[in-house]
Amino acid sequence: MDTITRKTLIYKSGLGILCINHVRGCSHGCRYPCYAYMIAHSHQQVKSYEEWCKPLLVENAAELLTKELSRKRVMPERIHLCLSTDPFMYGYPEVTEMSLKLIRIMNSCGVQASVLTKGILPAELTDNTKYSTENTFGISLVSLSEDFRTQWEPGAAPYAERISALKYLQEGGLKTLIHIEPYPTPNILKQDVTKLLEAGSFADTIQFGGWNYNNLPKQFPGCPEFYRNRAVIVEQFCTERGIQCSIFV
Ligand code: SF4
Repeated sequence: MDTITRKTLIYKSGLGILCINHVRGCSHGCRYPCYAYMIAHSHQQVKSYEEWCKPLLVENAAELLTKELSRKRVMPERIHLCLSTDPFMYGYPEVTEMSLKLIRIMNSCGVQASVLTKGILPAELTDNTKYSTENTFGISLVSLSEDFRTQWEPGAAPYAERISALKYLQEGGLKTLIHIEPYPTPNILKQDVTKLLEAGSFADTIQFGGWNYNNLPKQFPGCPEFYRNRAVIVEQFCTERGIQCSIFV
């Protein structure tokens, strides 16, 4: 895997949370499209979708993280991996290895990691001699259809593998979440949201959000009503099972 170096790593996102992105680009190549790709493309950091899909690992990420944390007078409570790449990129063991190393560095400083991936969460995260039990691990999951995944998230991990890796962490006592966003309207994919919720019903938290990346949902008659209706189903499902719920529609 090719690499780059950076001068800084930790930054505060527009959402107000501290993040690190220790890879440039993402082989998952989501076609919603990927917001991080659009930003990188508009800033001329990548010239094409093909270039975006060839990730470059930040080879000095561990050194930067150690240095930046050592300079903090007050340690942050939590750092997020990642907003503009994927920390457990499918088929890239170098990215996984680096992400694990960065989480160990954070945890050794008393900083918790919050992780969101469309890849496979490694089982070794349950080793509480190396990793904090206060980290949070999430997967993005907007469908169970592999046809949909192949079309819209072509390089990401198959859904069943994503779910079973997250379930393993849940059973190992870790905090888990399912991030259902961008949820497709029926003109993109017809599916039963309840089946999706059932597949993720073991998680501590479920987040649900609409598809805001292009105009396809607006071409579906009754789009706002569709999302309101699905939000009610998600909220009710979570309430009945004691799952924490966040809705963004
Ligand atoms: S997994 Fe995330 S960062 Fe990677 S291409 Fe998909 S949306 Fe973009």
